[in-house]
Amino acid sequence: MRYFPIFVDWDGRVVLIADGGEKALQKLRLLTKTAARIKVVAEDISADIEALANEHALVLQHRRFEPADIEGAAVVFAANDTEAADEEVAVAVRGTNIPFNMVDAPRESTFIMPAIVDRDPVVVAIGTEGAAPILAREIKARLEAWLPAAFGRIAERAMTLRRRLQETVADPVLRRRTWESLLQGRWRAAVLAGDEAVAGQELERQLTAAAEGAAPAGSVSLIGCGPGEPDLITLKAQQRLQEADVLVVDRLVNPEILEYARRDAIRIDVGKTPAGPSAKQDEINQILVREALKGHRVARLKGGDAFIFGRAAEEMAAVRAAGVPVEVVPGITAAHACAASVGLPLTLRRQVRQFSVITGASADAAFDLDWSAVGKSGQAFAIYMGVREAPRLQERLLAEGAVSETSVVIVENGTLASQRSVATTLADLPDAIAATGIKGPAIIFVGLDWDSAGLSRPGDVQVFQREMSRAPSTGSAEAARLNNGH
Ligand code: SAH
Repeated sequence: MRYFPIFVDWDGRVVLIADGGEKALQKLRLLTKTAARIKVVAEDISADIEALANEHALVLQHRRFEPADIEGAAVVFAANDTEAADEEVAVAVRGTNIPFNMVDAPRESTFIMPAIVDRDPVVVAIGTEGAAPILAREIKARLEAWLPAAFGRIAERAMTLRRRLQETVADPVLRRRTWESLLQGRWRAAVLAGDEAVAGQELERQLTAAAEGAAPAGSVSLIGCGPGEPDLITLKAQQRLQEADVLVVDRLVNPEILEYARRDAIRIDVGKTPAGPSAKQDEINQILVREALKGHRVARLKGGDAFIFGRAAEEMAAVRAAGVPVEVVPGITAAHACAASVGLPLTLRRQVRQFSVITGASADAAFDLDWSAVGKSGQAFAIYMGVREAPRLQERLLAEGAVSETSVVIVENGTLASQRSVATTLADLPDAIAATGIKGPAIIFVGLDWDSAGLSRPGDVQVFQREMSRAPSTGSAEAARLNNGH
């Protein structure tokens, strides 16, 4: 972020514009929305600007720009039609601390103008640091369509209500809730529709309820945040994140997803690393209960889906036992996202009729599972947390009679920029992991391949197979061959 967005108070300050032509007019149309004291200096001032001056009390000075004009200015614009004339202004400003903008010349300027969506007093500023004005325009067009023209009225009303809410509702958490229900509910709709009577009634109803209300009850949302890519969370998850007072965050949750949350939300990291320190499950349960009992809305952010190897049951039980309401917001689990990102269907008509998810973590007693069932044909499965235990998983499957040529696809860091994928066979699974240096988080798919689905393998999937000519006893990583082709 080279340019930092700020909103500057120009009320009563002097804004100087050098030149009175078309470019100056364009700027003036925006600047006259402020209460700045606008001064235009130019030998030629267009009739349009003269008209604007009558309407907005601009100060027009029909003469050449002089360096002394910048004195007392809070900001200076150079909008001349010739570079030489602009440069004269630039020279005058250089060395002062007066913010300076040369129209269409970001390099000469100390600030640039964003694209603006104006729902005064709500103003959205959009910038691309000059890299792609077309993108800014697209965003602006979308926001214009999305924000009702009367949106500013809601904000204006909110401004006048602030005081009253402050006096009527002492508890800050309750006050925020009241704001939210006003701004999201019937009051907002009535204000937007211009229905003053309904808006007034609704306001009184909400304020009375809040004034009599006890401290609000907290709640917990177990939110599946998907595999990593921020676009892969649900709209409901996004809403819950915006509402949350407290965020309790797992390690596998992409930090970018926290951008959806309020900036003032309290954030508690309870990330579990496979080896490093992490909060114990009991502690996490206690944190959820403690924060909810304070009246907070707690968002418990989990990677993927909370119900797939997410220990959701323990957290739900603990929260319910404390009498706190808990809901689950589903997410996209890693297996689904990884399969989609390498174009690998998880079931196939007539060929793969059953798909299971399996934990490979030995701590979960994975080796007590009935692996004979998963090794059968017509079955496919995704192993979670299986990278470290891959040799033992392979051994176990082979011992149960799984065919060593069974197709295996490993997807690491699925949906993230660092995603990698490897296609191999059950026989080569540990070697493939060792040779490619896969560390996880990764999903190991067993029993799925593109061929059977009538699809071609994506070009960025690495293929790992042992050299066929080598004796089986040399089945080490060194004897392995990696290729990227088909
Ligand atoms: N609740 C999560 C799973 C938690 S267990 C879900 O539904 O996805 C942690 C395991 O999930 C990791 O060891 C890995 O096997 C898998 N995993 C999570 N995110 C992943 C990703 N982006 N790519 C590949 N595997 C991932």
